[in-house]
Amino acid sequence: LVVCFGEMIVNLVPTVSRVSLADAVAYKKYPSGATANVAVAISRLGCSTAFIGKVGNDEFGYMLSDILKQNGIDSSGLLFDDDARTALAFYALKRNGEPEFMFYKNPSADVLLRPEELDLTLIKKATIFHYGSVSLIKEPCRSAHIAAMTVAKVAGCILSYAPNLALPLWPSKEIARQGIMSIWNYADIIKVSVDEIRLLTEGDNPYDDKVIMKKLHHYSLKLLLVTEGERGCRYYTKDFKGWVAGFEVEAVDTTGAGDSFVGGFLSIVAAHNHIYKDERRLREALDFANACGAVTVTRRGAIPSLPTKDAVLRILFS
Ligand code: ADP
Repeated sequence: LVVCFGEMIVNLVPTVSRVSLADAVAYKKYPSGATANVAVAISRLGCSTAFIGKVGNDEFGYMLSDILKQNGIDSSGLLFDDDARTALAFYALKRNGEPEFMFYKNPSADVLLRPEELDLTLIKKATIFHYGSVSLIKEPCRSAHIAAMTVAKVAGCILSYAPNLALPLWPSKEIARQGIMSIWNYADIIKVSVDEIRLLTEGDNPYDDKVIMKKLHHYSLKLLLVTEGERGCRYYTKDFKGWVAGFEVEAVDTTGAGDSFVGGFLSIVAAHNHIYKDERRLREALDFANACGAVTVTRRGAIPSLPTKDAVLRILFS
């Protein structure tokens, strides 16, 4: 069982393209949220998956709960808050091509999940416990994450973290960096993008392996994955490091590529514990994860573009 804990939101996108949020009159709803995307990716690849999070007791919350069920995910850990609304993100591409974001945060239900509301039995059953979202720095959800990570660690789960910081949305680089660092010590596996690793290497070259290995040794991290878009990904363990090339495809929308990559990788880890001790197996798993990311960029949207195993195998063996 893979248990994912974190963000599940509704994206509201203007029905007319290239219009600013202020000028939009109607919106389309898209289920979203990095951790929810990962959960759907894993489940679609055939692994038993559960999701923990909180939504409002409203139409958007019911829609998200249905998405989990339709994708065969155990949604018993999805809680409904009577007093707060489901997290919403308004998103538009303006006429000049610049993205524009606005969040409903009053606060939204996702950050109101309290430690005492967690289903600890569900977490203890997990082989892998995956998390990562903005709510990691907001109370009471931050305490709930820390409680869940502690229980998962004691239960012997593999802890996987993908910060997914969407850097332009953070108030400052320093807060974003703290957001990652506060959780760095709990995780066994961390997946970052090149931009996120830059927050950690600071002034040093993010492509300098020595700099990254130093970070790895400083923390109890077993595996660091750095995705680099079409180039594929780099991997670092305390014993070996390397790079696995991506697949050449025609990209139409890169939304969800990183989540698809994480989902693909974890679906393999779920079947082969401690894969990061065997470099050959690790490289095979990363090849699979790169193929998952590649399929996703050939389709529009996040959740609709997450692949089945057949679609991944077609790319792998084409
Ligand atoms: P994130 O979405 O977290 O920023 P990336 O953009 O690095 O992550 O994408 C994650 C993975 O998806 C990459 O490592 C790669 O395997 C795949 N991918 C992303 N963009 C492309 C692309 N244009 N062509 C082929 N594969 C891609």
